[in-house]
Amino acid sequence: MARATADIVVLGLGAMGAASLRALTLRGARPLGIDQFAPPHDFGSSHGETRITRCATGESEALAPFALRSQAIWREIEAETGARLFVDCGCLLISRPNDVGERHGRSAFLERTVAAARRYDIAHELLDADEIARRHPQFRPRDDEQGYFEPGAGYVRPEAAIAAQLDLARAGGATLRLGARVEALRIPRGAGPVEIVTGEGVIEAGRVVVSAGAWAAGLLGPRLAALLRPTRQVLHWFPVLAQREAWAGGPTYIWMHGTGPTDFFYGFPGLDGEAKCASETYEGCERPDSFDRVVAPEESRAMAARHLEGRLAGIGSRAARAKTCLYTQTPDSQFVIDAHPDCDRVLIVSPCSGHGFKHSAAIGEAAAGRVLDGASRLDLTPFALGRFAA
Ligand SMILES: Cc1cc2nc3c(=O)[nH]c(=O)nc-3n(C[C@H](O)[C@H](O)[C@H](O)COP(=O)(O)OP(=O)(O)OC[C@H]3O[C@@H](n4cnc5c(N)ncnc54)[C@H](O)[C@@H]3O)c2cc1C
Repeated sequence: MARATADIVVLGLGAMGAASLRALTLRGARPLGIDQFAPPHDFGSSHGETRITRCATGESEALAPFALRSQAIWREIEAETGARLFVDCGCLLISRPNDVGERHGRSAFLERTVAAARRYDIAHELLDADEIARRHPQFRPRDDEQGYFEPGAGYVRPEAAIAAQLDLARAGGATLRLGARVEALRIPRGAGPVEIVTGEGVIEAGRVVVSAGAWAAGLLGPRLAALLRPTRQVLHWFPVLAQREAWAGGPTYIWMHGTGPTDFFYGFPGLDGEAKCASETYEGCERPDSFDRVVAPEESRAMAARHLEGRLAGIGSRAARAKTCLYTQTPDSQFVIDAHPDCDRVLIVSPCSGHGFKHSAAIGEAAAGRVLDGASRLDLTPFALGRFAA
């Protein structure tokens, strides 16, 4: 079998890998990036046209610096390339106050979001139900619901962000090997290279960033696979039939409307006459290559009936289109960014749990710091594997 060597390899070039690859080249490294497909693509976690970005992160205050830094990086890349990556249309969170529903990482989300906004001095407004409906006639909140509005939030265009970062990485000296599937990762317990096994041969790497998203579980060994659970998610696009101006000029939004783990949904402004909405599901899909990618019409009908009817005005109840996508869920719905327990030259950058894109540019920068300096400016300790030791 052919053997080659590389100093630094980034395995997986989606949201996290593209950001890491670019950040490494900015620091003067010449990494090799490998992907089984040609990102951006529709098979992993980073497609579907839009991703909400907001900086007051109710999931964990530790994430806010990553969202803030990522927004700054999107703007730097826009200035450098002319691409449009980040649209700051605002984000509205609607919830009943003191809602302590058992949601994955999102209990008391309104209060935790406001606390994060105050701690990091993030501009925001608190709105009552009348004010939400006055400003946004496409939303019909109940009298006891309240809103947190972050004007500097909005959405990122994931495919454009990945493409721009990969272009910049290539221009900065990275080598990209696309359409190359890594069959196995041989991680040494001590000294010696990390072996990356592909169909074309083995690459002996000095350091490896594993940013393989939903496939990471299959590459990192059973102990880590137990912590990284791919789940099937569905995105729905509903036609905008009325309230067109409100939809077109509207914010992104997250709506918590019950106390169960899936009693919430989120959505985007009406883009090209379609309003994209989604909720979450936690059904595992053990094999990211072979799960059911077809969305049955009943799934979109159920989405409309359970979440949208009575809350959103002006959209049709039959989806114009729908797509599947993958989350990689950790036990606490937070991220894993840490060295592999057997080898500190393998850095796991597998932060999905459904809320990673908004942080990805800064995570890439932090990953480059960890690989090149052994440390990063932003604190990665909240994402360490040690928290699962018990
Ligand atoms: C439906 C949905 C909605 C979301 N909404 C939001 C949102 O609004 N806001 C937000 O911040 N986040 C959101 N997220 C989460 C966010 O999109 C993810 O956290 C992020 O995209 C994860 O990126 P990644 O780089 O880890 O994975 P991916 O982008 O999937 O990248 C992994 C890459 O690794 C490659 N790869 C894997 N295995 C191999 C192998 N063996 N050999 C070669 N290449 C390999 C894959 O081909 C892929 O390109 C959402 C996710 C989903 C699914």
